[in-house]
Amino acid sequence: MVELKDVSVTYSSGVDALNHVSLKINDGDFAFVVGSSGAGKSTMIKLLLKEIDATEGKVYVNGYHLGKLKRRKIPELRRTIGIVFQDFRLIPSMTVYENIAFVLRVIDAPAKYIRKRVPYVISLVGLQAKTNSYPNELSGGEKQRVAIARALVNDPKLIIADEPTGNIDPELSYEIVELLKGINACGTTILMVTHEHDLVRYFGGRIINIAQGEIVYDEIIGGADESEWN
Ligand code: ADP
Repeated sequence: MVELKDVSVTYSSGVDALNHVSLKINDGDFAFVVGSSGAGKSTMIKLLLKEIDATEGKVYVNGYHLGKLKRRKIPELRRTIGIVFQDFRLIPSMTVYENIAFVLRVIDAPAKYIRKRVPYVISLVGLQAKTNSYPNELSGGEKQRVAIARALVNDPKLIIADEPTGNIDPELSYEIVELLKGINACGTTILMVTHEHDLVRYFGGRIINIAQGEIVYDEIIGGADESEWN
């Protein structure tokens, strides 16, 4: 669950990056956030991770009221969120398995659980055959699948995908969104930031459009993929 109530963010430089933004994304929802460069998308993601604080208004994420959250509780909040970046951020010296297992090792998960959970999430993203490959042996689409498995491994309530298709071939972009949709169908809330309007139009669903720190529209549209079947 994500809720912004009349949230504004003004950077110390004086830039108003978000201006009285209110929105709610319920558990289990899938929402696209679209907007051009400088619109305030990254600022919104930083708010949700409590990397920055709202200048005004209230932010709630997965049951935490971020304005009241103690610094020492921030790691607990972040463990409820999986993040997928445009540039994958895999560790080059680690295999696919190790990249994913690493997330569980740093939170001291039991070894037995790691041995069960990691192959499971690798199978969810369809990369069993690449389990022992290194990132430089993978295509862009495969790297992003590893990053999605890594975001999933800790069973987060919410996945934030920040331009996840920005560095991969357009035809593979659809597969990445399909994968995120499948994960969403299993109950994980997904917020995907993108500026690829074709992709959004194809899939449809909830679209939150931001420009100059304000919500221009927040609506649900029918997708091209669905109309093929109707
Ligand atoms: P987007 O992710 O949509 O490209 P951002 O959230 O990065 O937009 O930026 C929104 C606005 O805030 C822009 O005008 C940007 O220049 C400004 N901005 C972003 N980060 C900072 C910062 N750390 N300090 C000052 N201004 C910033």
